[in-house]
Amino acid sequence: MFTWTHIIFYLQCMDYTCCRVAFSSTALQHEYIMSSIGLNEEQKEFQKVAFDFAANEMAPHMAEWDEKEIFPVETMRKAAQLGFGGIYVHPDLGGAGLSRLDTSIIFEALSTGCVSTTAYMSIHNMCVWMIDTFGNDEQRHEFCPPLCSMDRFASYCLTEPGSGSDAASLTTSAKRDGDNYILNGSKAFISGGGETDVYVVMCRTGGSGARGISCILVEKGTPGLSFGKKERKVGWNSQPTRAVILEDCVVPVANRLGAEGQGFGIAMRGLNGGRINIASCSLGAAHASVLLARDHLSVRKQFGEPLANNQYLQFRLAEMATGLVTARLIVRHAAQALQEDRGDAATVCAMAKLYATEECFKVCNEALQMHGGYGYLKDYAVQQYVRDIRVHQILEVNPLILTENVFL
Ligand SMILES: Cc1cc2nc3c(=O)[nH]c(=O)nc-3n(C[C@H](O)[C@H](O)[C@H](O)COP(=O)(O)OP(=O)(O)OC[C@H]3O[C@@H](n4cnc5c(N)ncnc54)[C@H](O)[C@@H]3O)c2cc1C
Repeated sequence: MFTWTHIIFYLQCMDYTCCRVAFSSTALQHEYIMSSIGLNEEQKEFQKVAFDFAANEMAPHMAEWDEKEIFPVETMRKAAQLGFGGIYVHPDLGGAGLSRLDTSIIFEALSTGCVSTTAYMSIHNMCVWMIDTFGNDEQRHEFCPPLCSMDRFASYCLTEPGSGSDAASLTTSAKRDGDNYILNGSKAFISGGGETDVYVVMCRTGGSGARGISCILVEKGTPGLSFGKKERKVGWNSQPTRAVILEDCVVPVANRLGAEGQGFGIAMRGLNGGRINIASCSLGAAHASVLLARDHLSVRKQFGEPLANNQYLQFRLAEMATGLVTARLIVRHAAQALQEDRGDAATVCAMAKLYATEECFKVCNEALQMHGGYGYLKDYAVQQYVRDIRVHQILEVNPLILTENVFL
């Protein structure tokens, strides 16, 4: 039987070498951790590469990137050299050609070093995959290689001021004019907006509803494309968020992905993987937070002994570890379903995203609580994980997928 003792033992087995209470030394270097259990040798290898990259290239800067709102372009380009700019994109286009499960493993590991930067990279990867999958050969070869190397960056543009959860009601229009479309409208909350190069824009070429939507690539520098002010956010501060404004923006018809009317389907197919990726970023934050909490409890003394001796806190920590592991299981299950293109994949991806983002937020928040007042200070990393993953419960949600597929 699986008991609390087993779970506490599990926590003790989580091997990490330089996770400290102080924010400045939160680099997590993992040799043998539970998130590698069940993985094959190749997966363990690139997981280690991702953990090392997170520990050495991201974690030491994550507080500064957050504080100064730095979009770490050069660090992401270094990550791209390891294949993380187009993880599930075909190798002939510069992608790594890995599976959805492999991708989840990588994003989970990277986000221990900086959730916000990793989450942007996950959106970028989703966009490149959409071009690879739904673009014609010319589009794939023109756009994907510089995106995989992160010489260029991509943004996903679905949400509008008047259409969030109800994305199919979007009103940005694309009117055909010979060999061009003329785009008018605005997109809200666009990750990377203003600083990225390729905008994957969902817009209306036909009548109302999902079937009237197409997907068009708009490049930075196109006349008529402009950006709103940089939004001030609770977290995700290492990536800019801006409105994307299209005013008589002339784009060649050759930039349309797929046929007219297929845009909403393309956007939703992208989001199936996007949901796994965002959920994986939550897993990394929860993993890091469990370790931070465990470490804090072992050094902080109250009532004459380390807090770690308090059985209530031991139980709480065990529950956090259980939450993390169960969330990881459903995310990996969904990744596998998507990889196999199973009929239930979209539903399972939505379930995994729903469950993991909520469970991991609880884990991080509980870890902050265990730090007491210190958890509320910006010198301690745990508060940044809490702030950064809060938005994962808000975005890439589609309340209808679950209700339609589960109840109807
Ligand atoms: C930091 C950040 C980055 C983002 N990045 C991007 C991006 O890169 N690209 C992009 O396209 N979008 C992006 N978004 C937008 C994000 O996807 C939307 O905020 C999200 O889809 C919710 O839409 P909304 O904000 O309009 O909320 P609303 O749709 O107004 O929803 C408000 C609340 O009502 C709930 N709700 C709505 N409808 C229903 C229903 N039928 N049943 C039950 N509950 C419902 C929602 O779940 C939510 O809790 C980003 C948002 C943020 C905050």
